[in-house]
Amino acid sequence: MAKYLLALDQGTTSSRCIIFNRRGEIVSRVQREFAQSFPKDGWVEHDATEIWASQMGVAVEAMFSIGAAATDIAAIGITNQRETVVVWDKQTGEPICPAIVWQCRRTAAACDELKRSGSEKEIRERTGLLVDPYFSATKLQWILDHVNGARNRAERGELLFGTIDTWLIYRLTGGRVHATDPSNAARTMLFNIHTLTWDEELLRLFDIPACMLPEVRPSSGHFGETDPRLFGGSIPIMGVAGDQQAALFGQCCFDAGDVKNTYGTGGFMLMNTGNTPVMSQQGLLTTVGWQIGKDVSYVMEGSVFVCGAVIQWLRDGLGLIKNAADSERMATQVPDSAGVYLVPAFVGLGAPYWDSYARGGIQGLTRAANKYHIVRAAIESMAYQTADVLGAMQEDIKVPMTSMRVDGGASANGFLLQFQADILGLPLIRPACVETTAWGAASLAGLAAGVYSGTDELRREWRIDRSFVPSMTADERDRLLDGWHRAVKRSLAWAEEY
Ligand code: ADP
Repeated sequence: MAKYLLALDQGTTSSRCIIFNRRGEIVSRVQREFAQSFPKDGWVEHDATEIWASQMGVAVEAMFSIGAAATDIAAIGITNQRETVVVWDKQTGEPICPAIVWQCRRTAAACDELKRSGSEKEIRERTGLLVDPYFSATKLQWILDHVNGARNRAERGELLFGTIDTWLIYRLTGGRVHATDPSNAARTMLFNIHTLTWDEELLRLFDIPACMLPEVRPSSGHFGETDPRLFGGSIPIMGVAGDQQAALFGQCCFDAGDVKNTYGTGGFMLMNTGNTPVMSQQGLLTTVGWQIGKDVSYVMEGSVFVCGAVIQWLRDGLGLIKNAADSERMATQVPDSAGVYLVPAFVGLGAPYWDSYARGGIQGLTRAANKYHIVRAAIESMAYQTADVLGAMQEDIKVPMTSMRVDGGASANGFLLQFQADILGLPLIRPACVETTAWGAASLAGLAAGVYSGTDELRREWRIDRSFVPSMTADERDRLLDGWHRAVKRSLAWAEEY
């Protein structure tokens, strides 16, 4: 029997390949960065061909470094940056223009227009999303309207659309399979999360020809075989999920009420809400977690725009630390933040404030404050913002949580996690395998390939690295949170006042 599961983790700044053994341990890992292009203010593009080449490169290298042959790989799982749009020629397989990345704001005016026309409510009901340039629909519409001849060619059935998962599946299968899964489809703003089909009304609204859309298949299942020339033999592709949903799965958050938070560049909190979508009253998104067979898990999602990025700013903007790990050492030099709060609203604030005119600030400075307090306040800001998102989620769900699972680069910071547990009054659990995104894709593939009998077996294999138990008094927590909320208030609408 094949020994390994291979995960392709196609991120925003790098392509990674991680090979796991059957116990979920990492046996090989290779990562390669690729070019980011910012052709205009607020525009972000990738070269889809470079994404494909870098992804293939790391996969071959990861296999080569442990001497694995195609027959050693039981299945491939794909996880990816979400919402990014690729359009390519069906005949040649060549992209017709650069990929428009999820961060790209070029369709902001189109989204404002959609809101003015009163379409938002219906879009929200059908897709679970808020109208924002972030999602794929207006990006795809932009390509059809601005790339020479694209609309006519798309209508004639000559062009195909896909998010990054679809693009990789297409190339991996030598152009034989044009497919996606519901967790990726749900981020396009063209997919009805209730019927789990492309939504005809929305296709009409955005003027998108249905013939260019991929087939939607369950996240765990057979997506096709790789072209035998790529890996010296074909390998089945058996798992596909967007990065945040894959991380939720990789954290074994299989049951309604299970929640994970990822502390990466941004912060992403996802809660499994079971078989029914829960519509938020607090500005959170409702989306699909994954589909296994006919069984669909929905999730609620809230994001923090600047999470670990505030630590990068301490390093690159202020020069207060040399590397991210320094931040923990500095923060623990002082017993508290001396009343200093740092609100990293560098690009506005997301849930639950939704204020794109908010800007960053440091509040509460006295002559007693020094660089250690500022570093500590920066780390604490990650925890406060996360607490705000969790608070919004609890408002919607109304069921008390018992714990939260954590991952992402900044979850290496023990001070952050202890402070987070204290501020939430909730135990946090950090898994032994922090590569939860890749493991999520690999385990979705492993289920479909029969490597695992079911989610119970995955749960049994899952290991805790460390738990963080709250030790702060409720009074202290309330006092700190009150200070944070007063600081946030002073950051709101800042850029609007001029
Ligand atoms: P992404 O996948 O979003 O690029 P990662 O999960 O790799 O991000 O996490 C990288 C982020 O984590 C960076 O913003 C970095 O500043 C932050 N980070 C990494 N290590 C630490 C640490 N020890 N303490 C605080 N933040 C950290």
